[in-house]
Amino acid sequence: MRPDILNNLFKSITGLPGIGPRNAKLVEKLAGPKIIDLLWLLPREIIDRRYAPTIMEATPGKIATITLRVDHHVKPPTKRQPYRVICNDGSGQITLVFFHARPDYIEKLLPAGEPRVVSGRVEHYRDEVQMTHPDHVVGPGEADSIRRVEPVYPLTATLSPKTLSRAVGTAVEAAPEISEWLDTALLEREGWPSWQTALRTAHAPEDSAALEPHTPARARLAYDELLANQLTLAILRTRQKRAKGRRLKGDASLTRKVFKTLPFALTEAQTTALREIREDMAAPGAMLRLLQGDVGSGKTVVALFTLLNAVECSGQGVMMAPTEILARQHLATLQSLLGDTGVRIDILTGRDKGKSRQAKLEKLAAGEIDILVGTHALFQAGVDFKDLMVAVIDEQHRFGVHQRLSLAEKGQGVDVLVMTATPIPRTLTLTVYGDLEVSRLTEKPAGRLPVDTRTMPLDRLHEIVDAVARATRDGAKVYWVCPLVEDSEVSDLAAAEARHATLKTRFGDKVALVHGRMKSAEKDAAIAEFAEGNASILVATTVIEVGVDVPDATIMVVEHAERFGLAQLHQLRGRIGRGEKQSTCLLLFAQPVGDTARSRLRTLRETEDGFRIAEEDLRLRGAGEVLGTRQSGLPVFRLADLSAHADLLAMARDDASLILDKDPDLQSERGTALRTLLYLFERDAAIVNLRSG
Ligand code: ADP
Ligand code: MG
Repeated sequence: MRPDILNNLFKSITGLPGIGPRNAKLVEKLAGPKIIDLLWLLPREIIDRRYAPTIMEATPGKIATITLRVDHHVKPPTKRQPYRVICNDGSGQITLVFFHARPDYIEKLLPAGEPRVVSGRVEHYRDEVQMTHPDHVVGPGEADSIRRVEPVYPLTATLSPKTLSRAVGTAVEAAPEISEWLDTALLEREGWPSWQTALRTAHAPEDSAALEPHTPARARLAYDELLANQLTLAILRTRQKRAKGRRLKGDASLTRKVFKTLPFALTEAQTTALREIREDMAAPGAMLRLLQGDVGSGKTVVALFTLLNAVECSGQGVMMAPTEILARQHLATLQSLLGDTGVRIDILTGRDKGKSRQAKLEKLAAGEIDILVGTHALFQAGVDFKDLMVAVIDEQHRFGVHQRLSLAEKGQGVDVLVMTATPIPRTLTLTVYGDLEVSRLTEKPAGRLPVDTRTMPLDRLHEIVDAVARATRDGAKVYWVCPLVEDSEVSDLAAAEARHATLKTRFGDKVALVHGRMKSAEKDAAIAEFAEGNASILVATTVIEVGVDVPDATIMVVEHAERFGLAQLHQLRGRIGRGEKQSTCLLLFAQPVGDTARSRLRTLRETEDGFRIAEEDLRLRGAGEVLGTRQSGLPVFRLADLSAHADLLAMARDDASLILDKDPDLQSERGTALRTLLYLFERDAAIVNLRSG
């Protein structure tokens, strides 16, 4: 249970001053639905209002706070002209300018003859000193209500900065003093304030230096967030380690059989990865290893040998994929590699229902299935193995850490291999997986020709369609990728359905369509049509980004390539260049192309090296957004900025492991405070994993 002291922070933002139902929606979009979400919204900039000149001295272009007296109002002769209020401070005259103003409002705000304090940007226009739409207008008695240094928060359109900063201010005031969870020695060494002080300081920057990521206040808040992240991962890891691992060392009987019929030799990287995996499995603890390999680097066969090791030990293996398409593909690949070894392999997805599902589950529980491939359906209750020894999780980004764990819990000390095609830089792997072993498939299988990647303006579409016609006549298979389907907000996008329709008029039944809103059976059917050659063009959205394997597809056309992220285009392109034939990728862009997009397209022309592309992505987008954060399942940090706080991340990792070594269930006094930290960052699920959580 969340400690009471935090309850106020987890209330809805609608209780805050100025946040009615309409504003609540905007704030929610920006920060989140709860008061605590506002605490995490740190100011991006400041407005310094300390400059308080006389009108005569005021430097144009600067923000100034001026005390003056209202002289008279000049109502505009037509609605298009601004409403003007002439004011004076003895040194000179200033005109306050309001466009589209309601006269009664201005009259009330600035009554003639009254003193006022105004703050805003001073301009010179013709021979006049002006201030257009002052940010603040108050009576002299309320001058203190204008913050001398005003924090500026990120904004969504139509939400007023004043409303937002008032709400944030109230939220910050509501933040309680909480028992310290950080080590005193650490606080002293780093010169960090308490959590409450850090929050207050971070939200009240006195100058732009206070916005730097390494100020004590900001660093402390970032560290808290990273520590919560690392502690969560470490707790889960500890729990996995508690389940005693087993020494699994197969007799290689099946491995040898499959090896003999393998249509290729393993690459050195595959061999090394397999050796590392075998060593892990043979060791007494449970394996937790990440297999990182670019698209097409050959992870599936590594997975197969991993699974076979369990089967050789008379146990079972499971392989989980994020989508039905992928699961079916893995099944097909594994089946063909297994040949006549007699290994019993089956699949379980959401499509299995009723009696046939029941029959499968019974076989599984009886040990009559050796390898089970599947989707999320594998997590369901009732999916029980006779003796699950190894779990392979493909593209785990799309699964949560908890899901990974709950799969492993369907057996005793299950060895886990997580596979990802996203070439995440080391710092980022730490935030997703914590401290785990990593094997990398750095080379592509031999004999692959590099993909010929070209960029071209969209208005040459006709030529491209002609070229596609020639190529398909010669037997080529073509992926045609479109950015969105039926998105009414972005009606100018070449929607996949529209493109499918136009291509159909020329190519007839040779065109298939696959997109994310199709039922999975329809998707599979479309991909099968393409794989089997009944269709030679597959119009697709990014659903084909992950895993689709049609080795003889050699051409990819991407419409509006400028709208895709670098990593995403790289993933997409990985669908071709998988066979022996030369492949071509045509990236079509609509003009004008921005600098960043241009730079992305250039990188793609120049390289196919996933790690180089990932680094470039990091450089172009910054750590916060790298690899399309949300889709890729990387954690979104609100206080920590990994491009600046990588050092803190390493500290947090060490801290987390020390903490759990000493106090594995967070029972001590500091442990209790750390639980509060976890609640603060909504890691409630991690706490459940502690004994007497
Ligand atoms: P990934 O899952 O890493 O994207 P796959 O396992 O789907 O890659 O492999 C891509 C293709 O490469 C498959 O068609 C596979 O049969 C083939 N392949 C795998 N390993 C090798 C190898 N050592 N030599 C040649 N081809 C290989
Ligand atoms: Mg794969």
